[in-house]
Amino acid sequence: MARPRGIVFDMEGVLHVGYAELPGAAEALARLDGAGIPHAILTNTTSRPRSAIAERLAAMGMPYPAERIVTAASATVAFLQRRHRGRRVLLLAEDGAFAEVAESGGLDLVERWQDADVVCLGGPSEATTYAALQEAFRALMEGAAFVAMQRNRWWPTQAGPGLDAGCFVRGLEYSSGRRATVIGKPAAGAYRAALRVLGLRADEAMMVGDDPVADLATAARIGMATCLVRTGKGPSFPSPYPGVSFDVSGVEDVPPLVGA
Ligand SMILES: [Mg+2]
Repeated sequence: MARPRGIVFDMEGVLHVGYAELPGAAEALARLDGAGIPHAILTNTTSRPRSAIAERLAAMGMPYPAERIVTAASATVAFLQRRHRGRRVLLLAEDGAFAEVAESGGLDLVERWQDADVVCLGGPSEATTYAALQEAFRALMEGAAFVAMQRNRWWPTQAGPGLDAGCFVRGLEYSSGRRATVIGKPAAGAYRAALRVLGLRADEAMMVGDDPVADLATAARIGMATCLVRTGKGPSFPSPYPGVSFDVSGVEDVPPLVGA
């Protein structure tokens, strides 16, 4: 395999955990910049716009340009602008996803099922009520396109496991008989959005993640090199892990893999 010329990083568990930088992350990013190796972040986050993610990374000592961060929400907006240009979107999502839509250049948002050409589901929130789901369901029954930012099952919170968007995506699919186009990881489109930021083909770039299934399987399938880090969720997977290109202890070991 040729040495990768650019890197896509998963964020949580690779660069930081919660609000704490993982050891060596800032230095690794600085080394890549110094060597002129392009890199981008790919995260399924929908609860914050890219500008807020960039601010949070900067506060941890890792200033990162918002335009090099791809979230499930920003990739979805780009997808809708490309494939459903000019169509009216019923967006059922949390405030952060609405903020990302506004930052990413906006969509023609509507609130009534009768006005919707596309139903777009983001992350769950207090706004994911029966009435809101009913509105989305009726639009789907009338033939609106169905797009989901992600369909994660759950995520860890300090209070315990949090119910994620997957059950609402699957529930609306079940009742409407329609299939959602899912944009976030592990869908290939998310990786292609990050590769566009790098300006590289899949076989020229490497995906770095702490979850070999959620982060790396699709990357490998589309031809990217893969690097499993043993921080974040990393220690919970078998070692050595079959099929990954590189298996390293943490992000500090990544720059040498690309000659930085
Ligand atoms: Mg992760």
